[in-house]
Amino acid sequence: MINPFDLTGKVAIVTGANTGLGQGIAVALAQAGARVVGVGRSPMDETERQIAARGGAFHAVTADLSTIAPLERIVEEAARWGGRVDILVNNAGLIRRADPLEFSEKDWDDVMNVNLKTAFFLSQAFARRLLAQGGGGKIINVASVLSFQGGIRIPSYTASKHGIAGLTQLLANEWAPKGINVNAIAPGYCVTNNTKAIREDPARNAAILARIPAGRWGTPEDIGGAAVFLASSASDYCHGTILVVDGGWLAR
Ligand code: NAP
Repeated sequence: MINPFDLTGKVAIVTGANTGLGQGIAVALAQAGARVVGVGRSPMDETERQIAARGGAFHAVTADLSTIAPLERIVEEAARWGGRVDILVNNAGLIRRADPLEFSEKDWDDVMNVNLKTAFFLSQAFARRLLAQGGGGKIINVASVLSFQGGIRIPSYTASKHGIAGLTQLLANEWAPKGINVNAIAPGYCVTNNTKAIREDPARNAAILARIPAGRWGTPEDIGGAAVFLASSASDYCHGTILVVDGGWLAR
């Protein structure tokens, strides 16, 4: 029987693959059969170890995604290692928390550059490569429940995540006719470095947990399954979908 979630023979690029959701996504894609290229500025040894333990293949590309300078090289190196590229997951991202009355230009630019600008220009470089090699492909952006809500104390993050949701739909409109599926995952509140500060604040932690119908924070594994779906032929008719994986947070 054909498994519509099988990624055997596919090459996937995952940004921010050293930790958190990116690591969960990289491992899940490898487990589904993809060869994975991790992209980031920190060592990705732990991700490589987890993938090797499952019999998968992993290649690390070192790059700082705060500027668009390394993007062509990333796609080039991935294609050289993998022989082709099929899947891009724009996962790398950061958050800065401060009162909007005090929020700095640096905290605005740092977040927007990685979360939105780099995601767009890496998608552009990746899509050009897909069109040159032929056969289509899959782009998966990591949005957030803050693509739909305002939140508090995170103006640049909320703007970037609303932006990535809109960009996902725009690129889906542009590239669906070219055989490229562009979709996003919108995780809810997950246990990663990104949420360390609010998990360690007893009042915020309790308030967040009280609102999650599933009664727990999400994990990288919870997000990995959604990534496999959007990377696989099971989602071939999904274009511009923003798949919410939030334990029910937005339903509340
Ligand atoms: P995380 O553990 O902080 O991981 C963020 C990743 O982005 C890390 O790999 C980090 O690398 C990388 N990154 C940040 N700036 C970078 C730069 N300039 N160059 C290269 N890599 C950079 O947080 P996470 O929760 O897994 O975040 C992954 C994605 O999920 C983000 O887009 C985030 O907004 C989104 N998200 C998270 C949640 C949540 O509750 N955790 C909810 C919704 C959406 P370093 O380790 O080297 O900094």
